[in-house]
Amino acid sequence: MNTSVVLFTADLRVHDHPPLRAALRDARAVVPLFVRDPAVAAAGFAVPNRLGFLADCLRDLDASLRARGGRLVVRSGDLVAQVCRVAAEAGADEVHLAADVSGFAQRREERLRRALEARGVRLRVHETVTGAVPPGAVTPAASDHFAVFTPYFRRWSEQPPRAPLGAPRAVRVPDQVASERMPAREDVPGLSPGLAPGGESEGRRRLTAWLRTGLGAYEERHDDLAGDATSRLSPHLHFGTLSAVELVHRARAAGGAGADAFVRQLAWRDFHRQVLAARPAAARADYRTRHDGWRTGSEAGDDIAAWREGRTGYPVIDAAMRQLRHEGWMHNRGRLLTASFLTKTLYVDWRVGARHFLDLLVDGDVAANQLNWQWAAGTGTDTRPHRVLNPLVQARRFDPDGSYVRRWVPELARIEGPAVHEPWRLPGPERAAVGYPDPIIDLAEGLARFRRARGRD
Ligand code: FAD
Repeated sequence: MNTSVVLFTADLRVHDHPPLRAALRDARAVVPLFVRDPAVAAAGFAVPNRLGFLADCLRDLDASLRARGGRLVVRSGDLVAQVCRVAAEAGADEVHLAADVSGFAQRREERLRRALEARGVRLRVHETVTGAVPPGAVTPAASDHFAVFTPYFRRWSEQPPRAPLGAPRAVRVPDQVASERMPAREDVPGLSPGLAPGGESEGRRRLTAWLRTGLGAYEERHDDLAGDATSRLSPHLHFGTLSAVELVHRARAAGGAGADAFVRQLAWRDFHRQVLAARPAAARADYRTRHDGWRTGSEAGDDIAAWREGRTGYPVIDAAMRQLRHEGWMHNRGRLLTASFLTKTLYVDWRVGARHFLDLLVDGDVAANQLNWQWAAGTGTDTRPHRVLNPLVQARRFDPDGSYVRRWVPELARIEGPAVHEPWRLPGPERAAVGYPDPIIDLAEGLARFRRARGRD
């Protein structure tokens, strides 16, 4: 066998990379390829924070391949056309690709397969690269996917993940295949100021530190908003700079209640992926419609703007929305609260919130984002679809002394203790001096409207 192309997509690493290892085993030389496809931007996925993080990932991947005698080839244009062109330039007879779950990825894979076959080139698709347990590997008796997490998790836990692979020692890339210049984070305007650095090396550093110092207390601390005690590995999982299979193995090897709780979150990731793989339309349409008559843009425009900008008058909601804008990331408890507030308290369509999150999140991911939004809106897989999270009760529970709010809402930084969650209780002159908005909605009114809409009053 001669030369293979390894097409990198959401798997930007050299460790535990089955397509790369298979190509190196079966071919004399490989072309590690990444295509910057304008269709990704046209579909709304290429936003500044993710493009900035991606640039770090590509540079780091190129450096890792160079350290092994190879390099990364970057091309721009339609992915199918570029892969065919590179395969022809390299005289490749195989292309290796990691399987992925969105409708976009599934259609692209099919188009690529047909175009390559017409040129006598074989497409080899590898499972368990972008997720730990692939969609369809565990299914209930009467369906192609699980619609409820608990039974899914039981079966997921019984499924032994494959052994993680080491990074290759040497990579030989044919000279005749040229690359464009690597993109750089500095080329991307409009990044969140606190955006985390990307790349596999950074991801592995973060993972090692997390296993040593964070994992043990994860179970008790993962909901503590101010403690910020989750792994923050989500962008690395999204871009595949870390492998979900390797994470499951390393967390289980560490052991303990923290590891169990963390591995359960990785199963949530696979759970949403298997729902989306089976029902790609759930990226846009209700998975389980509740026949909502959501308030529209003209009716709810001011509320939507206040929510996006973090000035709803509910400090914990505003803190989380401002964290999102500043870092391109938000704590999971914040995501739950802000999503419940938009969809249930303000009764605004979940797609409006999901779009805003996708515009800013560095880990913005079709499966995790759209299906968690549907979960929060009660149109997805939540088994209690009509529950409403009360931001005050939640703030007292998950930010008991108000530190999270003071960190992100500077107007309120002088208010001590839990009183920061209810600035409307301050005496008149003090309240005016703070310069923080009054609540845009009465929680009881919002709850009553939602219950009426869902026929629960
Ligand atoms: P940890 O608590 O350390 O968890 C470890 C990993 O498990 C995460 O990195 C993530 O890959 C996975 N995970 C954890 N919780 C979930 C979950 N509920 N669903 C799927 N995977 C999960 N996560 C994304 O990766 N991308 C998104 O676009 C996204 N959008 C969300 C939108 C809403 C409305 C909600 C409620 C949640 C969303 N999540 C999303 C899930 C979760 O909030 C993030 O994965 C998590 O906050 C990332 O932080 P972490 O890496 O510190 O997580």
